[in-house]
Amino acid sequence: MAAGHPSWCVSHDNGIHRSRFWATSQPGHHPVDVRAFLWQRDLPDGPLVGIGLDIRMSEEQCECLLDLGQARVLRYALTRLLDHAKQG
Ligand SMILES: [Zn+2]
Repeated sequence: MAAGHPSWCVSHDNGIHRSRFWATSQPGHHPVDVRAFLWQRDLPDGPLVGIGLDIRMSEEQCECLLDLGQARVLRYALTRLLDHAKQG
C-alpha cells in the first residue's frame, strides 16, 4: 500500500486515515455497539495500517487501534471463543 491518502479512507484527523465503519449490531438494539474500521498512520518509514474498534456503551466510548498482527491474533482468539461457545 502506498503512503498517502488510501483509496478506502472516508475521513481522517490527527494524522490517521479511517475507512467506513462496519457495525456488528443495529444501532440502539444492543447495549454495546461495536464498529470496526481500517486505519492508516503515515510514518516516515511508510504507512502503518491496522484495524480499529469503536466500542460504545451508553455514554462511554472507547476506540482501540490494533496493528495488523494484533488484529490477526484477535481474529484467531474470537474464532476459537466462538467455536467454544457453539459447543456449549
Ligand atoms: Zn485520508
